[in-house]
Amino acid sequence: MKRALVCAILLAMPVRSAAPSQAQRLAAGSRLAENARVRAALEWLDHNLSSINDTQVRLTEIPAPPFQEGARAAALGEVLTEAGLDLHTDKVGNVIGELRGVNDNEIVLLSAHIDTVFPAGTNVKVHRDGDRMTAPGISDNGTGIAALVAIARAMDSAHVKPVRTILFAGNVGEEGEGNLRGMRELVETYRSKLKAVVVLDGSGTDHVTTKALASRRLEATITGPGGHSWSDFGMPNPINALIRGSVRFINTKVPSGPRTTFNIGEIEGGTSVNSVPYEAKIKVDIRSENEEELGRLESALRESIAAGVRDEMAPPRDRSKGNLEWKVDLLGSRPGGELSNDSPLLAALRAADEVVGNQSRLERSSTDANIPLSLGIDAISIGAGGMGGGAHSLQEWYDATGREAGLKRALLTVLGISGVAEEKTR
Ligand SMILES: [Zn+2]
Repeated sequence: MKRALVCAILLAMPVRSAAPSQAQRLAAGSRLAENARVRAALEWLDHNLSSINDTQVRLTEIPAPPFQEGARAAALGEVLTEAGLDLHTDKVGNVIGELRGVNDNEIVLLSAHIDTVFPAGTNVKVHRDGDRMTAPGISDNGTGIAALVAIARAMDSAHVKPVRTILFAGNVGEEGEGNLRGMRELVETYRSKLKAVVVLDGSGTDHVTTKALASRRLEATITGPGGHSWSDFGMPNPINALIRGSVRFINTKVPSGPRTTFNIGEIEGGTSVNSVPYEAKIKVDIRSENEEELGRLESALRESIAAGVRDEMAPPRDRSKGNLEWKVDLLGSRPGGELSNDSPLLAALRAADEVVGNQSRLERSSTDANIPLSLGIDAISIGAGGMGGGAHSLQEWYDATGREAGLKRALLTVLGISGVAEEKTR
C-alpha cells in the first residue's frame, strides 16, 4: 500500500556562510528556534530540569577514575539508548550514540568527557541542597554529561531530524594522563566526514574555547644504587639531585606574553627515612600560547635535571660509590590550534547566543577540542550551563540555577551546524 511519501526539506541549512553580520545571525538563530520541532525540543529542556539534575547526580555517583571509565560509560550508554540513539562502544571505551541525518556523509560530533581526575576510592556521593550539588566531578564533567543526555532526549522527544548526522559521544581520557585518547580515537575514526566538534566541558554559559592551548606533561626520573643512610653516606642521592634540579627548573624565566606556565604536580621517591633512595620522580605540566616557548621550557627541564644530577655528583663528598642516571619522558602532549573567526561553527554559536540572550567570551584553553583544532577541523568547547567551581577538588560544586540557557545554547549550536530537516507528508 502506498502511503504518504516522506520527503526531507532542508528547512534550516547548516550554517556555511562566512562571517555573517549580527542581523544575519539573529535571523539564522531565530529561524531555527521558530521551527516547531526545535521549539518543542527547547521546551522539553524547560520542562525537564529536575530530571536532568537527577541524571547528573546519578552519573556523577558512578566513579570514573582515569582509565576506569567503563561503569560510567555503560550507564551513560543505557540512557543514550533510551533517548533513541543507535549505540556502540569503540575500542578505547568511548560510548557513541548516533542520530542519523538526511546526509550521513557529514558528521557533527557533540561530546562530553566521562572521566574524572579522582582516583578509585574517592567518595563521589553527591550532597544536594536544592539546585546546589557538591561532589568530586559534579561539574567537571557531570554538567557536560547531563547536558549530552538532555540534548539527546530533547531532540528525541521532539522528533528532530538533522541534516548532518549527529554523534553524541561520552568520551574517555580527557583528564591528566588520559592524554585526550578518547577524542583522538573519535577524530581518527570519523575524520573524513567530520564537519564540526562541539565539546561540552564543565559549567557556565559565558565562554567559548576557540583556541587550543598547547601543553605537555613530562616525568623526570633520577635513579641511583641506593644504600644505608649512615654506612653509605656520600653515595649520590636521587632525591637530593631532583631537588637541586627542580630548584633550577622553577627559577626558569617564562614570558607573560605569550603566556607560558609550568607546574610540578607530583613528586615521589624513596622507601624509608634511613635509606639512600634508589629513585625519585616528578611530574611536570607545561603550557604555552606558543609551541616554541613550550619547546624551550621542555629543554629547560631537561637541562635543569641534568644539572641537578651534576651538582649532586660533584665534590666535596666522595661519590665513588655509584652514579646517578636521569631521564625525562613525555607522558602526554596536547597540540595547539585555533578556530577561524569566520568559521560556520562560531557563527552557529553566535546565532544560538542571540536566541538565548547570551554573550560569549572567546577563550584559549586545553580541552578535547585541541585534537580537532590541531587538525584543522572546526571545534569549540563550551560550558553546559549553570555555575560551578572547585573543579578537580573534593569541594567541587555545581549550581543548576538557570542551566536551561546553557542547554539551549548548546542544542541550538549543534542544530545550527547540523541543519534541521523538516519531514513533510504530501
Ligand atoms: Zn573537564
